[in-house]
Amino acid sequence: MNTIVAIVGRPNVGKSTLFNRLAKSNSAIVDPTSGVTRDRHYSSSDWNGKNFTIIDTGGYVSGGDDKYESEIDKQVILALDECDKIIFVVDVNESNNSSDKLIAKLLRKTNKPVIVAVNKADKNKLINDSLEFYNLGFDKLFAISAINGSGTGDLLDKLVEDINDSSDSISDDLPSFSVVGRPNAGKSSYINTLIGEERNIVKNEPGTTRDSIDTVYNKFDFNFKIIDTAGIRKKSKIDSDLEFYSVVRSIRSIENCDVCLLIIDATRGFDSQIKNIFWLAHRRNKGIIILVNKWDLVDKETNSSKIITEKIKKEIEPFVDVHIVFISCLTKQRIFKSLELSIDTYKTRSKKIKTSKLNNDLLPIIESTPPPSVKGKRIKIKYINQISGNYPQFVFFANLPQYIKDPYKRFIENKMRSLYGFTSVPIKIYFRKK
Ligand code: GDP
Ligand code: GDP
Repeated sequence: MNTIVAIVGRPNVGKSTLFNRLAKSNSAIVDPTSGVTRDRHYSSSDWNGKNFTIIDTGGYVSGGDDKYESEIDKQVILALDECDKIIFVVDVNESNNSSDKLIAKLLRKTNKPVIVAVNKADKNKLINDSLEFYNLGFDKLFAISAINGSGTGDLLDKLVEDINDSSDSISDDLPSFSVVGRPNAGKSSYINTLIGEERNIVKNEPGTTRDSIDTVYNKFDFNFKIIDTAGIRKKSKIDSDLEFYSVVRSIRSIENCDVCLLIIDATRGFDSQIKNIFWLAHRRNKGIIILVNKWDLVDKETNSSKIITEKIKKEIEPFVDVHIVFISCLTKQRIFKSLELSIDTYKTRSKKIKTSKLNNDLLPIIESTPPPSVKGKRIKIKYINQISGNYPQFVFFANLPQYIKDPYKRFIENKMRSLYGFTSVPIKIYFRKK
């Protein structure tokens, strides 16, 4: 399971600067679009080999006026409650700010670990000033400069201190699915259509995380789980429409699944928010299936599945080897098919390929199309191994791995996809020295 960290603070204290620093190159992967949309404010990050997801709450937490007791703020508390940790950013030049105090009060209500980042402490003198902020009532406090990075290492050390070492730890032999997508795409309808009423529940057991319940279902003779994070069905509709809340919830359910069922509304298409979810699932090496729902509403003459498939593939390049299924929860069209493909994807993701087979299949291909030489040096790949883990990862041992570039990696990946059928499953390829 991955830790979710929210960055909170009033406007202009440097939240997004800190976010960008922590997201580093990752954000480029999560946000392939250049759009400056608000939903791009989440990304995965790692420190000392420990993974976490960060969310910039800029725009979600008002923290200004007297709205403190308002419905809005109750929702924000609820949303923050879905996070595991909070970084509370303040500006070293403005101590005793009343908005900061309101936010501090709000944060205490969540009972989450809070780390105060006293930002803009670019000079030593300012580091002393940061001590004033202990009056906000939190004992973990770091003077940092989000701009030049000073102090952020110490903050991160503290942040990841109690996070378990990386890689996803879901170990179970039952496929677990998360159903994600924008509000109104049909997520609840899909779950209801798929599993029907309570009668399909096999058992409830304590979930893999703090407050989730894993429900084992049996349908069409398949056993599987649907990840249900804290009260997905309990909390009212209004909460799930809160963007921040729904983002945290999707991240949480993606982290905990084997295969992510990404539901989109056929009448609305594939927008940047969905794209972000798609890349997040990809980055987490989850199986991904795209379900184009409400197919009953679409005029098939002008909008054939072929055209829509092409459009979606343009959006998800270069990872286009993905199942795209056109469904209707209303007419139940292809609901069985979608479950069947989800189960297949789960199996594909756990597939192990024998070392002898890998080498027999791939070495001849590599021999006839080797990586281009660099500075007159021949690059030789000697052998290939699959690493154990719960998604497909392969190591290629070579004399000069540092010279093998991305295009060659893609070439290898495409060969492996066509040889072994990894549809809907991200694979990782590493080159190592031998
Ligand atoms: P947000 O509204 O909280 O997301 O704040 P921004 O990240 O947009 O930053 C607000 C302003 O503070 C920008 O002009 C930043 O360049 C500046 N800023 C952010 N971090 C630092 C810092 O560490 N030192 C200084 N001097 N300025 C900073
Ligand atoms: P959620 O917010 O993603 O859980 O979406 P819901 O499952 O609540 O569905 C949103 C709306 O779309 C509801 O009014 C559903 O009845 C409707 N809906 C869901 N699936 C379909 C479908 O396949 N066809 C049509 N016509 N409407 C659908």
